Amino acid sequence: MFELSAKFDKRLEPSPTLQINERVNQLWAQGHDLYHLGFGESRFPVHPKLQEALRANAHQKSYLPAQGLPELRVTIADFYQRHLGFATHAEQVMIGPGSKALIFALQMAMQADLILPTPSWVSYAPQAELLGRNVYFVPGSMADQYAFSLDALDETVAKIGNGPKILLINSPNNPSGQVFEPAFLEALASYCRKREIVLLSDEIYSLVDHQKQATTSIATYYPEGTVVLGGLSKHLSLGGWRVGVALLPKSEAGAQLMRALKIIASEIWSALPAPIQYAAITAYADDAEIAGYVAECRKIHAIRTKHLWSWLVELGIDCTEPMGAFYMLANFDRWREPLAAQGVTTSVDLANYLLETEKIATLPGTAFGIPTAELSIRLATSYLDMETDEKAESILSAYRLGKNPEHFMNEHHPATKATIQRFASFVDGVNS
Ligand code: PMP
Repeated sequence: MFELSAKFDKRLEPSPTLQINERVNQLWAQGHDLYHLGFGESRFPVHPKLQEALRANAHQKSYLPAQGLPELRVTIADFYQRHLGFATHAEQVMIGPGSKALIFALQMAMQADLILPTPSWVSYAPQAELLGRNVYFVPGSMADQYAFSLDALDETVAKIGNGPKILLINSPNNPSGQVFEPAFLEALASYCRKREIVLLSDEIYSLVDHQKQATTSIATYYPEGTVVLGGLSKHLSLGGWRVGVALLPKSEAGAQLMRALKIIASEIWSALPAPIQYAAITAYADDAEIAGYVAECRKIHAIRTKHLWSWLVELGIDCTEPMGAFYMLANFDRWREPLAAQGVTTSVDLANYLLETEKIATLPGTAFGIPTAELSIRLATSYLDMETDEKAESILSAYRLGKNPEHFMNEHHPATKATIQRFASFVDGVNS
C-alpha cells in the first residue's frame, strides 16, 4: 500500500547511534547490567542560568524567522568572532534544529559530490544517499591513527570527475577523537581553494578540545569557501534543545547559499521553538559563569576519555589517541584469528560479540565508513558513570572536590573501572 522510494531498501537503516541507544535502554529496562559506550551524548546538567533563561521565555509563542531570531544571530556572530578571531555578521548565521539538520540542508542546497575522510561521523554519508548524491571516502587506516592526509585526498579527488565537490571534515573528530593541527588546516585550505572545493567544517566539538579552550577553525584560512557548523549539543550538554548553527561565507555566493537554506528551512521546519531561541541567547553571551562551566565539562571529558584510552593501550589494544570530544577508535585486528574462531570477522560481529559476552555496548567501525572487515569499534565515554541525571550531578560534584585526576577516576567511576576489567577479560580470552 505504501510504495516506498527505492532509497529505503535494505541499504539505509535508522541511524546506528540512535539504534544502539534504544537497544541499551531496552536491555537496562530488562535489568541487564550493561556498559554503554555506544552513544555520544554529553550528560552534564543544564547550567542553572540556562534553565532560568528557558523558564523566563516559556511565554514566547510566535513563529520566528526561518533564518533564526535576529537577536540570537547577533549574539552568535559576536561569540564566533571572539572564538574564531575573524569577522562574522548576523546575516551569515543560520540557526536550525540541530547541526545535523543543517548539514542535510546544506547538502540539499548544493549539487555536488561528497568527499569524506575515513572515518567520518555516521550521518554524513546516509544524508548524501538520501539526496541521491555520490559519496567518496578517502581511505584511512589504524596504522597511522586514521590520519587524514592531503596525498590520500588528492588521490580520491583525482578519481572523481570535474563536477562540484564538497569536502566534509570534523575536528575534534567523532569517532577518532583526533584534532587537526592549524598547519594542516592551512595546507588543506589552500588545497581546497585551488580546486574550488567547498568545505563543510563540522566544529560541533570545538569547545571540547582537551588542550585548548577552542580549536582553530579552517574558516580562518579559507573564509570564502567554508561553512562552519556548530551548536549547543556538546559543550553545554544540550543535545535535546536542538540548537544548531551554520556560519556561511560573507560573499555573494554565501548570500545565495543562505537564500537556499532559508527556502529549505521555511518549507520543512519553519523555525526552532521560540523559547529555546530566546534562552540560547544566554548560552552564547559569554557569561563568565557559563564559560567557566564549559571549561569544567571540557576538562572532565578529557580526564575520563584519556583514562579509558590509557588503560586500553596498556591492555595492548590499538586505539586512536583522543585529543578532543569523548571518543576513540579501538582496533582488534591483531586478534583476527582467535576472533574468527569465535565467528567474529567484521566490526559488526565484534560489536555484537562485545555486547553479548562482555555486556559492553559500542558502535562498529563500519558505521563510520571503515571497511567492514577491519575490526574497529568506536567507544564513547560520555555515558559511563553518568547514566542518570543524579550520577551526572555527582560526577560534577566529585570533580569540584579538586582531587587529582587519578583519585577522581578511581573513587568515582565504578562503571569505567568495570568496563576496563571487562576489556581485560576479553583480551585474556583472545590471548589464551
Ligand atoms: N556532528 C557530529 C560529529 C556529531 O557527533 C553530532 C552529534 N552526535 C552532530 C554533528 C549532530 O549534533 P546536533 O544535531 O545535536 O547539533
